[in-house]
Amino acid sequence: MKQLYILTSVLFCIAPVFSQTDSRLHDIINNVSVERIKSDVTTLANFGTRHTLSDTISQTRGIGAARRWIKSEFEKTSSQCNGCLEVFYQKNLVKEEEGSRIVKDVWVVNVVAIQRGTKFPNRFIIMSGDIDSRVSDPNNFTSDSPGANDNASGMAGTLEAARVLSKYSFESSIVYVGLSGEEQGLFGGRGLAAYAKEMGWDIVGILNNDMIGNITGVDGVVSNRDFRIFSEPVPPTETEDERRARRFYGGEVDGISRQLARYVHKTTKQYMPEMNPMMIYRLDRFGRGGHHRPFNDVGFAGIRIMEAHENYTQQHQDIRVEDGIAYGDVLEHVNFEYAKKLTAVNAINLASIAWAPPAPSTVEIGGIVEPSAKLKWNKVEGAVGYKIYWRDTTSPTWDNSRYVEDVSEYTLNGIVIDNFFFGVASVGKDGHESLVTFPNKIFR
Ligand SMILES: [Zn+2]
Repeated sequence: MKQLYILTSVLFCIAPVFSQTDSRLHDIINNVSVERIKSDVTTLANFGTRHTLSDTISQTRGIGAARRWIKSEFEKTSSQCNGCLEVFYQKNLVKEEEGSRIVKDVWVVNVVAIQRGTKFPNRFIIMSGDIDSRVSDPNNFTSDSPGANDNASGMAGTLEAARVLSKYSFESSIVYVGLSGEEQGLFGGRGLAAYAKEMGWDIVGILNNDMIGNITGVDGVVSNRDFRIFSEPVPPTETEDERRARRFYGGEVDGISRQLARYVHKTTKQYMPEMNPMMIYRLDRFGRGGHHRPFNDVGFAGIRIMEAHENYTQQHQDIRVEDGIAYGDVLEHVNFEYAKKLTAVNAINLASIAWAPPAPSTVEIGGIVEPSAKLKWNKVEGAVGYKIYWRDTTSPTWDNSRYVEDVSEYTLNGIVIDNFFFGVASVGKDGHESLVTFPNKIFR
């Protein structure tokens, strides 16, 4: 009897025991500073205009001054972590003929800061905000265009996430980036996505933050808890064979960007249960776009994180009063507490992904006309186990899961393949999970 007792306790000890939550993520949430975000949004708004075609020489006005300041802030953060950030400009010359909103040749300059991963230095999770702003006429590059919410809020959140996360070290690399040329046609994102392809970056995904500071909607709704996660259903780069396979195996709502959206939704629910993340099953707002799209265009996962209740009188507007309405994207309309919350949403997801092992690249599924679903996957370096997820086909979230130890196949007894969707995530030693990989192979 005593022997049996010892045996059970030993078994218990060797099984990985995950605490419910990682206290470091709670610290990260608490360390995001409202004051610093407020100060950064104010500084950015005070550059007068950050229009992509605006002045680059002045030290106080225009996009040149703005990007030099952003670079210096990343460098300041880096100097406080023994140079843990690689800070540089990534730029592309965009020619006048490339778009109706490019009225003269212009260097579109992004500011990049890389916090290099210790174990997977070439694996990247990216957080972005935008540097540039605009008024009513997209080609007006001289008028005051504070862009306080669109998108100094996202840029300030990105600077602040770098400050908070640079106190930790991660297995995968985190990229913090200020993108430019957004309002002129998503040129900065296109440039960085091409650069990433050229450099062979293994990108887990991009969390693009565009307008994370407004809580008073044009429809009268006021909420400092709702926010939206936009994701496209499947990559536009999928092959004809993949498209055809979906008819028979499913996957219409299970592309890589959607898995990233589900990941952010889940982490937020777990660590910030007061928030209300709303997954929107579309690339972006109806007919509008953002800087995650150029990454999606070349096959990378990417989502847009933003406020849930927009106010159109405060976006892309000349500053004026008309019929008693004060138009303009000015500081007074930004809710810095809310921008802090959405910055924290980003930070905990960046940290969780950068602490987690990579997702299995191949997940095979079998069990046609059998009582049980079977899954096989490739083992991943750094994973101590795997989590098999499944859900009703109509559910937006991975509602059921089973943790399995360091194996590469598993049979879900009594779970019929026809009635659910399935996926597999890797689990690291601290309990952090990779994104879920939807089955990409069938076996019989
Ligand atoms: Zn905009």
